[in-house]
Amino acid sequence: MPPALFRLAGIAVLAAGAGTMAVIAGDAPADAAAHHRGHRFQNNYVEFEPKGIGALLKWRIDAERAGLPKPPQQETPRVAADLAFLHANAVAGAAMVPSVTWIGHASTLIQAGGSNVLTDPVFSERASPFGFVAPKRRLPPGLALAELPHIDAVVVSHNHYDHLDAASVKALAAQAGGPPLFIVPLGVKAWLADSGIGHAVELDWWQSARIGAVEIVLTPVQHWSGRSLGDRMETLWGGYAIFAPDFQAFFAGDTAYSKDFADIHARFAARHGAGRGFDVALLPIGAYEPRWFMSSQHVDPAEAVQIHRDLGAERSIGIHWGTFQLTDESLDEPPQALARAALQAGLGDDAFTVMAIGATRRFAPRPP
Ligand code: ZN
Ligand code: ZN
Repeated sequence: MPPALFRLAGIAVLAAGAGTMAVIAGDAPADAAAHHRGHRFQNNYVEFEPKGIGALLKWRIDAERAGLPKPPQQETPRVAADLAFLHANAVAGAAMVPSVTWIGHASTLIQAGGSNVLTDPVFSERASPFGFVAPKRRLPPGLALAELPHIDAVVVSHNHYDHLDAASVKALAAQAGGPPLFIVPLGVKAWLADSGIGHAVELDWWQSARIGAVEIVLTPVQHWSGRSLGDRMETLWGGYAIFAPDFQAFFAGDTAYSKDFADIHARFAARHGAGRGFDVALLPIGAYEPRWFMSSQHVDPAEAVQIHRDLGAERSIGIHWGTFQLTDESLDEPPQALARAALQAGLGDDAFTVMAIGATRRFAPRPP
């Protein structure tokens, strides 16, 4: 049954089944309309125009001539997931240990505040509409769909195929015990509905949804959207700030470098507490070469380090690498470049690192 939606004075209340309730706060800034351009959306700090077919051809021909990408020297590390911990923790309620598990690419499982939240779930073999030309995944997901605990919420950053996968969201919507709440940027709810998924809420930048004790806010990042040549930037994109009572996480989705991250830090400063930032930021570090093509849409590891600093994050974890070969850098280059950039920036050894696929990192709950 589709959820009932009531709009009252800028507040929408979504009665989501299984005893959960999502409240969308109409907390948009005065200049909210700046990124709304008719039936398309635009970034805050750059007039973004997706690259055309000419640039795409030039990239592909250059890469072919240069023999790029070179094969990786090292396989992406992968470990067996700690299913016993994840499943016990999933039902621990207020005693839940804040944790992050890397499933692969931008897919992570965040356990916090009594809720299990999945980011950009992609479990399929290939990340494209054109199954036969799309990059094949190099390693299986760190957790198979059937191994997941019951998922309370799924956040989707944008509709690119390596972040929004039809087969994966349909499988999640059919999970035992009822569907998760899908939290998506403006315009993506209709796509979900076309796929038969009605248990969804869509947000504009700075709007939030609540799942149990966890508040999830869509934030601006610099990127774009589109699943074909005909729908570019017609749906919104973003990152998510995830606020549990004892844990604060940021998931950047896909992004270029921009002032948006300093804005996010400023906006949530009071919520973080003096001198603090997010407990962890999940930041993309892969799919960045060649820069002339990628820099307006994907950060490189040095820019990811700058985002970590702009956010004032306590820790960051590099994601969006090692799973699908999407661009010219080798699959194993991003963590090496990240280590160099972190050293150059004078970060502590454990401030910004990567994880093995399947690995779980546990965090100390933040003091009340
Ligand atoms: Zn993207
Ligand atoms: Zn991506």
